Amino acid sequence: MKLTARVQQVTPSMTLAIDTKAKAMKREGIDVISFSVGEPDFDTPPHIRAAAEAALEQGKTRYGAAAGEPRLREVIAQKLQRDNGLCYGADNVLVTNGGKHSLFNLMLALIEPGDEVIIPAPYWVSYPEMVKLAGGTPVIVSTTLETGYKITPEQLQQAITPNTKLFVFNSPSNPTGMVYTPDEVKALASVIVERDIWVVADEIYEKLLYDGAQHLSMGAVSPEAYDRTIVSSGFAKTYAMTGWRVGFLAGPVDLIKAAITIQGHSTSNVCTFAQYGAIAAYEQSQDCVQQMLAAFAERRQVILDYLNAIPGFTCPKPEGAFYVFPNIAQLGISSLEFCDKLLETQQVAAVPGIAFGANDCIRFSYATDVDSIRRGMDRLTQFVRSL
Ligand SMILES: *Cc1c(COP(=O)(O)O)cnc(C)c1O
Repeated sequence: MKLTARVQQVTPSMTLAIDTKAKAMKREGIDVISFSVGEPDFDTPPHIRAAAEAALEQGKTRYGAAAGEPRLREVIAQKLQRDNGLCYGADNVLVTNGGKHSLFNLMLALIEPGDEVIIPAPYWVSYPEMVKLAGGTPVIVSTTLETGYKITPEQLQQAITPNTKLFVFNSPSNPTGMVYTPDEVKALASVIVERDIWVVADEIYEKLLYDGAQHLSMGAVSPEAYDRTIVSSGFAKTYAMTGWRVGFLAGPVDLIKAAITIQGHSTSNVCTFAQYGAIAAYEQSQDCVQQMLAAFAERRQVILDYLNAIPGFTCPKPEGAFYVFPNIAQLGISSLEFCDKLLETQQVAAVPGIAFGANDCIRFSYATDVDSIRRGMDRLTQFVRSL
């Protein structure tokens, strides 16, 4: 079969591959401890499920507007005003099948052959592949342990060419868990404004912050930054709604209209009753978020204590999301070999940094219970001793 050049240049998701292997081992009855999954282990809070069930009962089971249920678009716009200081109305919002789909719609609407998209590494696995699928060129800028894996304004300046169309900015970050301080966001915004490029702020982890870390939305820095910012986010990580597939894109009306057209010819509306769960998530009490955050905070401390005690591991303290990203350069083993052997000999699953463009690192997700974290970290410690 002759497949397109478009699809042949795309790498399958390595995070999904490891997860598949770990799940297959579990099915064989092997006691696998997994740090590889990028999703909360909690159930969706009951009031959100109840809202979707009520919507089902009320017959919200038909096609809806491609752009999303009008009420949800409004509620998202209100949230962006209230929480993020971004002046958007319902027209500025498109409801998508998750944050991944919102980024994909954006790439199709904004990027074409010849366009360069700047992506700091370590990056979320899908960014470069989406740019390639849209026909654009990903420009990867490697960051270092010394800057906490954050791109500096100088690095951004240097990566910009006349072909640069977009900068992909993700804070808190998957895979590093690092959070850009408000000052760092402002410094990057100045470069964006001065060089007049677009930025997409992937803010899907904005509520998962520790140690008093603060989230500043790129578009809230100044009116000039607002004009060049597009927001991508969703409900999956904050409200344990990964399987619901509800996210959104927010930005200038022209861009949103273009993305609605694309969505109208590809997926049409997001599952109608799922959108009513999302309305409840934003409109009702946020206590559930605080509860999950408290659990994540405890687990984060447990896993950090273990990792910091392992010789050869250098682990910057993450201030957001639910990942830690230790550097293993001192051990002299590639991330892929490390993870393969760890899974085979100790039945512990983690994701090699090479999947995120950082071959010196390993990603551990602590979206799992404390007991599993302890058992898994004991096995990891033994494994590193055996190297
Ligand atoms: C999980 C994730 C998303 C999107 O997830 P959806 O399930 O599609 O909403 C987007 N960006 C990053 C960095 C993520 O980790």
